Amino acid sequence: MATIELNYNNIRQNAINLKERSQDIIAVVKNNAYNLNLRECVKLYSEVGINYFATTKEEECKVIRETLGEDANIFLLNPTYNFDLVREYNVEINIASLEYLKENLENVRDLTLQLEFAGSMRRAGARNLEEVLEIINFCKENTLKLKGFWSHFSFADEFDGFYEKEKELVLKVLDEAQKHHDFEVIHLQNSASFLRDGVFEKTTHQRLGIILYGAMPYNVKENPVALKDLIIKNPITVYGEIINIVTLNKGECIGYSNSYIADAKKKVGVVNIGYGDGILRDRLKGQTCIINGKERNIYSTMMSHLVVEIGEEESIGDRVYIYDDKQQLHDYTKYFGPNSVQLAALNYNSLKVKKIY
Ligand SMILES: *Cc1c(COP(=O)(O)O)cnc(C)c1O
Repeated sequence: MATIELNYNNIRQNAINLKERSQDIIAVVKNNAYNLNLRECVKLYSEVGINYFATTKEEECKVIRETLGEDANIFLLNPTYNFDLVREYNVEINIASLEYLKENLENVRDLTLQLEFAGSMRRAGARNLEEVLEIINFCKENTLKLKGFWSHFSFADEFDGFYEKEKELVLKVLDEAQKHHDFEVIHLQNSASFLRDGVFEKTTHQRLGIILYGAMPYNVKENPVALKDLIIKNPITVYGEIINIVTLNKGECIGYSNSYIADAKKKVGVVNIGYGDGILRDRLKGQTCIINGKERNIYSTMMSHLVVEIGEEESIGDRVYIYDDKQQLHDYTKYFGPNSVQLAALNYNSLKVKKIY
C-alpha cells in the first residue's frame, strides 16, 4: 500500500524555529491542520508555547477547545451565525461587516470580536477605512469587546508588485484604526508575507499556515527571502512500491491511450500509487520520483498506478518516493501553484498513514 509518513518531530522543530523568529504565532489550523491532523498539531504547537489558533469552521474550534482546554485562544476566521457554539466554546469571532454587527448586536454583546479589513481579499470584513472607523465607533457605543485587528494579503505569495501596494494600504488603514482603538492583538501576515518581509513592527502576531506544516509558501530559489537562515524541515514523505516489472519492446505502449511508448527495448516499473492517492497530476506528469536514491522519470500516470523508469538494480518491492527530503512539496510550486493545494488534496483514505514522533 502506498504510504504517507508524517514526522511530527520535524513539525515540532519547525514550530520552535518559527516561534523564535516571529513576534508570536497564531497557528492557522483550518482543514484539519492542512490535513496533518488537527488534534496532533494543536497539541504539539501548544507544547512549544503557541497558544493562539485560527480556523474557518466552528466544528474545528470546538475540537481545539476540547483538546487544549481553557487556556487556548481560538479565533474563527469565517463570519459565524452559530452564536451558541462560539459562546459555549469561548471562540473569538470575526466582524463580517458593519451591517452584520448591527443585525446581530444582541448575539455578539458578550462575545470577543476581531475587526477584519477586507483589503483586496474581499471575502469578509470592512471594505474601506470609513467602514473600519464606523465599526470601531459602533463597538464603542455599544461597549462591545473589540480585541483584534487583522487583514489577509491576497498577493503575498506572488511577485508581481501588487503585494507592495496592498501592504501599503493595509498598514495605512491600521495606522488610522489605531488612533481610535487600542487593539490587544494585530495580525496581518501569512507565511509568505512573513518569509519575505520578516515581522511588521505594528503587529503582535504572525498568522502562519503552510510554513508551520513544513513547506515554503513560494519558490524560494527564485524569489527573495528575508528570513534567510530559517530552517524548515520536511515532515512529509510519500511513497509507493514497485509491484511489477515489465519489459517493453521498442514501440510498445503501456497504460491508457498510449500514455507511454517505449523508445527502445527496456524494463519499466509499475508502482502502486497514483493521483487517486491525492498526488496532484501536475506533480506526476513529466516529473520524476526517487528510487534507491536515484532520480527516475515518471512515464505514465494513472489513478492507482504509475509507470516509472528503472535501472538494472531495481526489483519488486523497492520504494518509489514521490515526496521526501530530496523532492519536497515546495520544489513543485512552479508546476502546481500553492503548496497548500497538494497538502489539502492528499487522500488519507487511500494512503497508509505512518506517524513518526
Ligand atoms: C489560510 C490562511 C492563512 C495562512 O496562510 P498560509 O499561506 O498557509 O500561511 C492566514 N490567514 C488566513 C485568513 C487564511 O485563510
